[in-house]
Amino acid sequence: MIERVLQLPNGVSIAYQLALRARKTIGLKITAQGLVVHAPKRISHSQLQDILLQKSHWIQQKLHQREAQQVLPMQWQDGEPLLFMGQDIQLSLSRHAKSLPVLLVGDMLCVRSPNVDDPAWVAQRVLQWYAQQALPDFTRRVQLLATQMGEAVTRVALSNAKSRWGSCNSLKQIRLNWRLIQAPPHIIQYVVAHEMAHLKEMNHSPRFYSVLGQLFPQHLQVEKEMKAWSSVLHRMA
Ligand SMILES: [Zn+2]
Repeated sequence: MIERVLQLPNGVSIAYQLALRARKTIGLKITAQGLVVHAPKRISHSQLQDILLQKSHWIQQKLHQREAQQVLPMQWQDGEPLLFMGQDIQLSLSRHAKSLPVLLVGDMLCVRSPNVDDPAWVAQRVLQWYAQQALPDFTRRVQLLATQMGEAVTRVALSNAKSRWGSCNSLKQIRLNWRLIQAPPHIIQYVVAHEMAHLKEMNHSPRFYSVLGQLFPQHLQVEKEMKAWSSVLHRMA
């Protein structure tokens, strides 16, 4: 890969990576690292420049779109947008002589305390609130499915895993990532159903998917949707 810069007539410069390949056409790709150009080995600098200038509108549009999709890190400030069961809610911080329990009022998650200027403190209280909402919700879903399946679960616990949404072990213990409580209910239900299906089949065999299909018929569609949610749900540390 060669690092290059495309200068646009309007003064904007766009850095890109150039890969020269045995090919006849030019391919443009927007990746997490930005613009990547695949071009034929013998292309001249000015030929390439001309083509990129012709495509500059498309390139700029795509780069802007990617920027807009990037999830902003949490600031833990008043007005911070949050998600709860798929609903957009807002963090509301107000100074109070003593710390009161965190409370969801309409679409406002109210944190009242003398410590609202301390982002680490606010983060801890908010995460605690999410965990408190998550456990009873997940437990209820597990119990309903367990009854439906004629299975018994010995324990439902929250996990804080970075890369897994849930797990199920041979002791019939189910762990579910607390971050899921931010997602819409059908996403939560899908993950719960997936882990519950492992009570019957400890693998991802066709037999497993037939059990899952009975518990959650739209699983293929939601499995795909899940990928788009991942970065959003991981916004909270
Ligand atoms: Zn699985």
